[in-house]
Amino acid sequence: MNYKKVLGEVYQQVNKLEDKGTLASYIPELAHVDANNFGVHISTVTGFHYGLGSFQKKFSIQSVAKVFSLCLAYKMLGENIWTRLGVEPSGTGFNSLVQLEKDKGIPRNPFLNAGALVISDILISNLEHPKEELLSFIKSLSKNKDIQYSATIAASEKSVGYRNVALCNFIKSFGNIENEPSVVLDFYFDLCSLEVSCEQLSEMVLFLANNGKTLEDNNEILTKSQSKRINALLQTCGFYDESGEFAFKVGLPGKSGVGGGIIAIHPKQYAIAVWSPKLNEKGNSYRGMRFLEEFTTLSERSIF
Ligand code: GLN
Repeated sequence: MNYKKVLGEVYQQVNKLEDKGTLASYIPELAHVDANNFGVHISTVTGFHYGLGSFQKKFSIQSVAKVFSLCLAYKMLGENIWTRLGVEPSGTGFNSLVQLEKDKGIPRNPFLNAGALVISDILISNLEHPKEELLSFIKSLSKNKDIQYSATIAASEKSVGYRNVALCNFIKSFGNIENEPSVVLDFYFDLCSLEVSCEQLSEMVLFLANNGKTLEDNNEILTKSQSKRINALLQTCGFYDESGEFAFKVGLPGKSGVGGGIIAIHPKQYAIAVWSPKLNEKGNSYRGMRFLEEFTTLSERSIF
């Protein structure tokens, strides 16, 4: 497969389209991002790397970071984490409260904000220095270790984070948050504020295309079975109430964030990251989704 050629063609084609959608202005700091940014980077299990556009520019990865906190918790505690949250698609938006009451504070899956708050709580309970240890786990996945939390973005989200405050307190009322909600929320806002480039991102999630092991040094991040399960969750829950649409149009496990980033995995082949800040009405990157749809169509490769 000539990925360079296919990526180049698709990039040009999607770059010509009208970029519909809007910036995620509900987090004030995200509204200041240049909407013209459009980057893509692929890392394959054969060691091929290739990027286009603003693929080396760092951006706020927001909910894409939930993949890393989940993998760390899963690595540390194994299947025990599933007593605290489910593995079912929700059919609701990322910050929805509606199912939580019926489900007695057990979030449907780890990629909803509710689920990521529970994973944050698990990490806080099990790590001595949660913020630092999460960052060093994340850095261990990338050759380029220049990755940081953004204090500005975290503070910006915190200043308006009423919905997440409500979610965390609601879950706490059912006993499924052990720590102080304010501590869990601060950790969650820091997690979402991570700034990473497409180049770094595709490399960082490549282990999910490589049976749970890093390509560089064959380091086991997750077992083969755990890696398969994370991909299953990415496929069914990675785009909230647009997960079906993403499976339908793209056909790869993936995860989006309101910063406009998307990662997608083709197990045993590649990991790809796309960034374009304007979002559709479901909170997923408009051009990012279009790009991946055209890419799997033209390359004739998806998991289906
Ligand atoms: N930090 C964002 C929030 O909690 C993450 C949402 C997302 O990227 N979908 O609202």
